[in-house]
Amino acid sequence: MKTIGMLGGMSWESTASYYRVLNEGIKSALGGFHSAKICMVSVDFEEIEKLQQAGNWERTGDILAQAARSIEAGGADFLLICTNTMHKVVPQIEKQISIPILHIADATADRLKENNVKCVGLLGTRFTMEQEFYKKRLSDKFGIDVLVPDEKQRSVIHNVIYDELCMGEINDNSRASYLKIIDELKQQGAEAVILGCTEIALLVQQAHTSVPLYDTTEIHAQQAIAYALESL
Ligand code: GLU
Repeated sequence: MKTIGMLGGMSWESTASYYRVLNEGIKSALGGFHSAKICMVSVDFEEIEKLQQAGNWERTGDILAQAARSIEAGGADFLLICTNTMHKVVPQIEKQISIPILHIADATADRLKENNVKCVGLLGTRFTMEQEFYKKRLSDKFGIDVLVPDEKQRSVIHNVIYDELCMGEINDNSRASYLKIIDELKQQGAEAVILGCTEIALLVQQAHTSVPLYDTTEIHAQQAIAYALESL
């Protein structure tokens, strides 16, 4: 079994979900007392969040690249960056390590392609919904059309992520707002919706809606399990 590298703490609420899915997946594949081999570095999200707000992505990239180097030195065979947003700085991180990064958007796109989804709604932080690094990868590399909520809705989605979900707060009114936005994306032509922030599944699950949801935390972790179990 390969050792999974986890770059976590963004936020730790969703890193905890990854840790659980990875261990449950390895246990269910191998049985007995088996658990995932993991090497994790978990950053202080306060520092990262302040730099995001200031638009200092270069510095966030330095911090994450340094963490990634420690993960590689700790024996990881490949790396999971446990956040959608911080995939923005993947080019900066991959220059500094020699192990592969399993990209969260690629894992999600693979699943969408398997299910023949051609047009998808995207929920995530403002950075993920508004900037090119994620949407363009889905459209250019995989030919998937991406719809995002309107400005007011993006603000709701973003604020709930930072003010509630990253703080461990689950709020019924916020769930209702999310579900309304998901329905509107469907009406606009989305065949499915990507939960493109690793905390969203703490709030909204498939049981809450008939619109097919693609939970990036679950998909990313499942791909890591499959990769970890391939022979070295
Ligand atoms: N976990 C989140 C994501 O998947 C947001 C926190 C962050 O900015 O990294 O985008």
